[in-house]
Amino acid sequence: MQLLVTGGAGFIGSNFVRLVLRETDHEVTTLDALTYAGSLDNLEGVLDHPRHEFVEGNISDEGLVSDLVADADVVLNFAAESHVDRSINGAGPFVETNIRGTQVLLDAVLEAGIDRFLQVSTDEVYGETAEGVFDEGDPLNPRNPYAATKASADLLAKSYYTTHDIPVVITRSSNNYGPRQHEEKLIPKFTTRAAEGKSLPLYGDGTNVREWIYVKDNCRAILTALEKGQDGEVYNIGSGNEFENKGVAERIIEEVAASEDLIEFVEDRPGHDQRYALDTGKIESLGWEPTTSFDEGLERTIEYYLN
Ligand code: NAD
Repeated sequence: MQLLVTGGAGFIGSNFVRLVLRETDHEVTTLDALTYAGSLDNLEGVLDHPRHEFVEGNISDEGLVSDLVADADVVLNFAAESHVDRSINGAGPFVETNIRGTQVLLDAVLEAGIDRFLQVSTDEVYGETAEGVFDEGDPLNPRNPYAATKASADLLAKSYYTTHDIPVVITRSSNNYGPRQHEEKLIPKFTTRAAEGKSLPLYGDGTNVREWIYVKDNCRAILTALEKGQDGEVYNIGSGNEFENKGVAERIIEEVAASEDLIEFVEDRPGHDQRYALDTGKIESLGWEPTTSFDEGLERTIEYYLN
C-alpha cells in the first residue's frame, strides 16, 4: 500500500513513518513544509529508506497535493500548527494549515478516489470536563483557537464523508509524549530546563489534568484505525494515565535529580482547559491497547532529551 503522510517530519508523524517502515511493507511518501516545528533530523536514518520518499511542500499547495494524492492509496494528515500558546498569539497560520490545508487534501482525495483519508485529531476538540470521559459521540466544544481549527477540520472531513462518500476516518488522541517532540512542549521543555537548573514555568496552580499517551502507542492506534476502522467513524485514543501538570513536573524533577524549587507558578494561559479525558473502548474493540506505562515512557523520553 502507498501511504501519503503529511506532517511526517514533525513529532507524531515522524514516529509514525518510522513505525510503518519498520513493521509493515507499505511505501511512504512524506509531505512536510518543514515549518519551525518540523525537521529532517526527525527522519534521520529513514530518509533514504528504499520504501520512503520525502517531499518538501505545503498541504495548501493544490497542484502539489493533487499530484501526490493521485499516486497514493491512503492519506494520513498529521500536518498542523499544533501549539495552543501560538494559536492564542495569532490564529492565522492555524486557520490556513489546519482548516484550509485539510480542505485542499479532501478535495484532492475526492478527485483521486483513494481508499482512505485518515485525519489526525485531538481530544481538545471536546473542550474540558471536570469529571468523566468523552466518547466519540459527545458534542465538540473547542475552547482555544488551535482546538477550534482542529474541530473545524474534523467537521469538514466528516462532511466530505456524508456528502461525497469519501472514506474518512478520524482519530482523536490525548496528549502525546516521547522522542522527537519540539522543545516548546511541556515534557521536553521541563526536562531540558530541569537538567540545566532553569525554572519550570507552570500555568496557574499547576492542577490542570492531561491524559498522557506514549507516542508509539498512539502511532500503533492510528495504524489500527487505518487498517481496521470503519468509514465515517471517529476513534478516541488515550491511555487512562491522567496527571496534573504539577505532578508531571515533580516526576521530571525526580528523574533528573533537580530541585523542587525550580517549579515556578506563572500567570495562567487564557481559556486554559482544566481537564481532558477519553473513553477509548471503540479503538480497543479493533484490537488495540496501549502497552507503555507512564513510568517506562517517561524514563525513555527523559533519557532521549538528556542525550
Ligand atoms: P508537530 O508540530 O510536531 O508537527 C507538525 C508537522 O506538520 C511539522 O513537521 C510541520 O513542519 C508540518 N506542517 C505544519 N504546517 C504544514 C503545512 N501547511 N504543510 C505541510 N506540513 C506542515 O505536531 P505533532 O505534535 O506531531 O502533531 C501531529 C498531529 O497530531 C497534529 O495534527 C496535531 O493536531 C495532532 N495531535 C497532537 C497531539 C500532541 O500531543 N502532540 C495530541 C493530539 C493530536
